[in-house]
Amino acid sequence: MLKEILNRTNFSRDDLIFLMKLTNQNELNRLFESAYAVKTELLGRTAYYRGLLEFSNRCRKNCFYCGIRSGNNQIERFDMTKEEILNLANWAWRNQYGSLTLQSGERNDPTFIKFVDDLIISIKKLSCGQLGLTLCLGEQTDEVFKKWFDLGAHRYLLRIETSNPRLYRRFHPNNAVHSFKARLSRLKALKRIGYQLGTGVMIALPGQTEEDLVDDILFYEAVDADMIGMGPYVVHSDTPTGQEVLAAGRNTDQDRRERLILALKMIAITRLYLRNVNIAATTALQALDPFGRELGLKAGANILMPIITAEEHRPKYLLYENKPCVGDDQEKCRDCLTSRVRSIGEEVGFSQWGDSPHATSPYKATPKIDLDGINP
Ligand code: SAH
Ligand code: SF4
Repeated sequence: MLKEILNRTNFSRDDLIFLMKLTNQNELNRLFESAYAVKTELLGRTAYYRGLLEFSNRCRKNCFYCGIRSGNNQIERFDMTKEEILNLANWAWRNQYGSLTLQSGERNDPTFIKFVDDLIISIKKLSCGQLGLTLCLGEQTDEVFKKWFDLGAHRYLLRIETSNPRLYRRFHPNNAVHSFKARLSRLKALKRIGYQLGTGVMIALPGQTEEDLVDDILFYEAVDADMIGMGPYVVHSDTPTGQEVLAAGRNTDQDRRERLILALKMIAITRLYLRNVNIAATTALQALDPFGRELGLKAGANILMPIITAEEHRPKYLLYENKPCVGDDQEKCRDCLTSRVRSIGEEVGFSQWGDSPHATSPYKATPKIDLDGINP
């Protein structure tokens, strides 16, 4: 049965569920090998870097799982200065990083918007337009998205977090600032404006089923995502979700291992199904296993996001616990990740944007689910 499914080029939802439910180690290895073969055939053995600059942990939102949620008063808030950010962007450019990702908590006040405007202009200028720019700055209006796109940002990462509206409600406060419908409309806006669209989910959230995860992959297809940034849910004990998981005794080594395997299956099945999109091996994988990111690449991912956030601020940008690289600086992260990539026989695509071929490929499948049919 597994062999038959892996030989298909057109998978049904049931095929994907079958793959998502695999547990036997030999079968899992075959799944990962198939996904890796698709990656190398379509995208080669090159991993692309997106230097990750987490420049502020102030956030107007209060997502129940996240360590920097506005309701967490146990953390010190920080904002990097424009000068600090530009110094790091310059470092990334001199070190031949093809792209930079600017990430922060969500804010939509005019001071913040203007600050980002300036950053985009300055980063493009200092790198003579050569650094590719991905933004991961939460939900913004059409006007703001459009302005940032016109200034030169060309990719945007906005995770749907889960495509199941019922689960979305469970992990977010029930108010207009945390609306599934609004998040969906922002994804559509990004695509309309012309960004290469990145989305993703948290994997192994309490109450999430294998069917939910398969529907997340069908959702990626329906929003026509060009890149996928997804990772396992990782506990943060000063959050409502973290406390719920800890109280239920569901954060044992075995639980963490299961979350890692589910995340790797999700990467592999997404690669088999969506084929030529970019998929990140996210830092959260390494929070669960010292070799999590290599395992992600071997399961079909092709993007890495080395953290270049200033060392002094890293301990304050803890979305989850056990975050790796918190005691390192950007040079150490570069060397460490580069040797991790080489250890599995791949190369880093230095000085290249590494855009997803999906973004320029004329091929578009007919999505199996209808976005308007998702009932928030
Ligand atoms: N504020 C922006 C970007 C920063 S948060 C936004 O939310 O879009 C980036 C991502 O961190 C989120 O999309 C979420 O999926 C992830 N995240 C937050 N808490 C997490 C946790 N406990 N475990 C794993 N990922 C988490
Ligand atoms: Fe804020 Fe993003 Fe964390 Fe939600 S996930 S609280 S929006 S930083």
